[in-house]
Amino acid sequence: CENPKPTGPIDTTLCDYETVESVNGDLFSNLHELVQMPFFKYFQVDLYRECPFWDDYGSCNNPGCAITTVDESQVPLKWRAKALSKVDALDGDATYRDSDFCWLDDDTEGDYYDLTLVPERFTGYSGPEAHRIWRNIYEENCFGLSEFSLMEGKAPAAVTLPDTMTDVLREDGAENDQCLEKRVYYKVISANLLLGLHASISTHICADYLNQSTGEWGPNLQCFVNRIASHPERLQYIYFNTVLLLRAVARLGPYLSAYDYCSSGTHQDDVETKEILSTVISIAQKAGRFDESVLFRGENANVLKEEFKVHFRNVTRIMDCVGCDKCRLWGKIQTTGIATALKVLFELDEKALDPHTNANLLQRSEVVALINTLHRFSESLDAVNMFRHIWADMNSTE
Ligand code: FAD
Repeated sequence: CENPKPTGPIDTTLCDYETVESVNGDLFSNLHELVQMPFFKYFQVDLYRECPFWDDYGSCNNPGCAITTVDESQVPLKWRAKALSKVDALDGDATYRDSDFCWLDDDTEGDYYDLTLVPERFTGYSGPEAHRIWRNIYEENCFGLSEFSLMEGKAPAAVTLPDTMTDVLREDGAENDQCLEKRVYYKVISANLLLGLHASISTHICADYLNQSTGEWGPNLQCFVNRIASHPERLQYIYFNTVLLLRAVARLGPYLSAYDYCSSGTHQDDVETKEILSTVISIAQKAGRFDESVLFRGENANVLKEEFKVHFRNVTRIMDCVGCDKCRLWGKIQTTGIATALKVLFELDEKALDPHTNANLLQRSEVVALINTLHRFSESLDAVNMFRHIWADMNSTE
């Protein structure tokens, strides 16, 4: 890390992407197994809430956008909506508690989806409707700063696959050192998370792309070059999300270890779920190097944090406006996963995280979303590696 600016938690994160890179193979294979387990593969969500921001959000008629629900009888009894006490559920429809960074569905609402049957990949959802969602996400969340607005029409730079990352914060650092101490951190964190989500979704689309002339699925290098590799900072945002999610999992370690996964399938499933999870937690403890403790301190800290939370909650609501069912499902899961990580890092102290005194701290949907979101980001990093190999093979044969 040659550029010493800015100092603080983001800087540490950016300099330490190598650790994530070195553990990602192991992380990804463990997460990949974990998300196949019954506890983590069934997700309940109401996908058909009204879009609160505009009426004409259209719909994707492409078959790739469609998804099917699973019959509740397939879901382990313990997690079925009907078995859940309404008393434990949040009141009413989608709502939030003061500490939440997202709107959460009532635990007893919505259908179940088997996430292993709906990979995040090319669906054909695109054009002005998809762009409007991204634009609104950035406008909503970037605290009015223009440098993070969409870069429509920008010609790709000379193409190289990024082995190293550029320091996207350099310009911010040069711009205003004092500002960095406060607002810029929140702005950068917020923008990095959303740009990272966008970049990760784009990576999945390119890694599992439908060749519309042959009908075959597979990696599309040109797609990856256009959307990610020619903008190396986008790769950096994927690492940023991964580190933040890993840090949340590390911090939640004791709580996750004590969580009730039992009766989620067979006894064997329960044992395996706990074992794989404990491996994921130990990787997270090694690679989740993000120092959240220096954030949201001092003057105006609470005001800034509230502002950050409100913006992020609105992003989770924008997901209801995504006009493609499959994209909306993954959009909701991943914004919930990131929001859960933010809550764990910025809202909850050690006492709150104690599994014995606060066993109901997180809803099952938050735990499932957090782990599945980390899996998605780790999968993106794995796909980046795959593209590096394809690129290297292509260049060695030329
Ligand atoms: P877009 O990805 O729509 O981007 C618009 C503009 O933003 C481009 O000019 C791009 O250069 C710029 N940009 C700025 N920052 C970034 C960044 N960090 N990463 C990428 N581009 C950036 N489509 C699918 O096929 N499958 C899915 O599962 C899927 N899920 C989606 C989930 C959500 C929540 C949303 C909003 C959209 C989803 N889409 C999905 C659509 C997909 O993201 C694209 O919008 C679509 O593929 C059209 O891509 P595009 O090349 O026009 O650029």
